[in-house]
Amino acid sequence: MIGMILKIGILDVQGAVSEHAKSIRNIGAQPVLVKHPESLAEVHGLILPGGESTTLGTLIRKYGLHDPIRERARQGMPVFGTCAGLILLARKIEGQDDHHLDLMDITVNRNSFGRQRDSFEADIEFEGLSGAPFPGVFIRAPHIVTAGSDVKVLAIYRDRIVAARQGNLLAASFHPELTSDLRLHEYFKAVIERQCAAECV
Ligand code: GLN
Repeated sequence: MIGMILKIGILDVQGAVSEHAKSIRNIGAQPVLVKHPESLAEVHGLILPGGESTTLGTLIRKYGLHDPIRERARQGMPVFGTCAGLILLARKIEGQDDHHLDLMDITVNRNSFGRQRDSFEADIEFEGLSGAPFPGVFIRAPHIVTAGSDVKVLAIYRDRIVAARQGNLLAASFHPELTSDLRLHEYFKAVIERQCAAECV
């Protein structure tokens, strides 16, 4: 584990992929674009990027990634869902009968921050991050409506849960890859390193 370069996968079927790859490089880890189960097998953690959750959900099934991602996450692989990626992680999506990966014990509301201001940036107090508030970029962002007892709430904005963690699973409503602030990627890397201390080869 000491001196090993962590490989952090980014689901590469649609959405904000290259920006995450840049952030991963900037924290000294190696980004791996994950489009097929073979590349999933080599990563130590996985980012599910923003995009459009229905499209992402359809494509992960089409590329045969749905079951392998679920399986590895249930075995402990750290997964970080940002925006649409958070929706992919959820057990329940308000107003829909279906869900995607059904990994995290949360109910989410899609597009919850109003149509009149589809995108905005806000200062987010994020538990566990030191220093200034995190610059949260929200783009037609979801929020977490309810969270199970194993889920730790990490950030609230306008009375809505916008970041949470359940063990190896991390979720944020906003887009950390669209700022130069690397603290959330570092946070995820630390989750992977803790997992790796036990398991990585
Ligand atoms: N609102 C989108 C959805 O429901 C997510 C938007 C985003 O990822 N920026 O899938």
